[in-house]
Amino acid sequence: MIILVVNAGSSSLKYQLIDMSDESVIAKGNCDRIGIDGHINHKTADGRVLDEDCPFPTHTEAFMKLVECLTSGDAKVIDSMDAISAVGHRIVQGADVFDKSVLVTDEVIDKIDELRELAPVHNHAHALALRACKSVIPANVPQVVVFDTAFHQTMPPKAYMFGLPYDDYEKLHVRKYGFHGTSHRFVSKALAEAMGKDVKDLKIVSCHLGNGSSITAVDGGKSVDTSMGFTPLDGVVMGTRTGSVDPSAVTFVADKHGFTPSQMSEYMNKKSGFLGVSGVGSDNRDIQEAANNGNDKAQLVSDMLAYEIQKYIGAYAAAMNGLDAVLFTGGIGENSWEVREQVCQNMDFFGIKIDEALNRTIRGKLTKISTPDSKVEVWIVPTNEELLIARDTLELISK
Ligand code: AMP
Repeated sequence: MIILVVNAGSSSLKYQLIDMSDESVIAKGNCDRIGIDGHINHKTADGRVLDEDCPFPTHTEAFMKLVECLTSGDAKVIDSMDAISAVGHRIVQGADVFDKSVLVTDEVIDKIDELRELAPVHNHAHALALRACKSVIPANVPQVVVFDTAFHQTMPPKAYMFGLPYDDYEKLHVRKYGFHGTSHRFVSKALAEAMGKDVKDLKIVSCHLGNGSSITAVDGGKSVDTSMGFTPLDGVVMGTRTGSVDPSAVTFVADKHGFTPSQMSEYMNKKSGFLGVSGVGSDNRDIQEAANNGNDKAQLVSDMLAYEIQKYIGAYAAAMNGLDAVLFTGGIGENSWEVREQVCQNMDFFGIKIDEALNRTIRGKLTKISTPDSKVEVWIVPTNEELLIARDTLELISK
């Protein structure tokens, strides 16, 4: 059984074709610059590549090109779209409307579009892509949507409410939603399997550290709290995002710079974080290199990140009344031994002790990096959101 996984943004459309018999990737690619001009990069598992400019006025043309690449030409992998059993789509914001993956209907697409106010960059693009996909992919191929927020719908009200007037929650739907749920769900389950335990018996702090980062408390397989909030701006300091800031500092800075709310949002989302504090850049590799070469501000932002993560681990151990394992995932979590080492230093109060020599040698591989006498196990768990989307899709269409 073959499943197409789609991750659509406002001007891009990433995809993977996955063979569910062994969960291998048959082909993957990216259509980008949709609405600008258009470009596709398509790669097959056996190394064939197609990389060319082509006009993508809308997502529909991008889907048509994707179908063409999969079914014809030098990088073809299937004879026709009839070989595909279903399509799974990643959706950023499902709010409190969707607490699990669902089959796509016209009503589901409309609802995703209606939620656009809560995720202006993403949800409308998802709706456009879903409609485009329906117009291009044969009608008998079912489609499924998988939400980044769904895993966090198990958070109790005391974790997701803000101290704003209750009306803002009821009428404006302002609350913590949390993001990266697909990743946190995938890695917490993979960790339980690696530990040989049932996820229901584990209290895990899952650290998804990448360009965007979030930390989640997973108690018994359920998200009970998470660091991102109403939007993916909240929580720890990120590549170009501030993370949590005293709201009064936000209004003060906006006032001093004469920013409108949307300019201030842009400032906090695009010009802050690693980039804004260090002046070096938004990429963790550049930050670590600059810090190693004696750049004080790069060192500072690296220290801030590690310190903030440590505080989340402490807070979530308290929230769950226990801690069995901490896991690292995402581009930084899987690859940066420096960040993992810094986070795990001076955490002996919690019973966290890692094998520093081992940690320094591991990159992107499922590995336990804690010492045998560490009370809390520490693991690197590579994430695979596309695979989880494909698995959810398969499960739903099999029902
Ligand atoms: P993601 O958003 O999950 O793709 O992660 C992107 C982040 O991972 C960037 O900040 C990269 O610098 C970081 N990253 C990727 N590879 C490495 C590496 N080998 N060492 C350190 N950081 C890395």
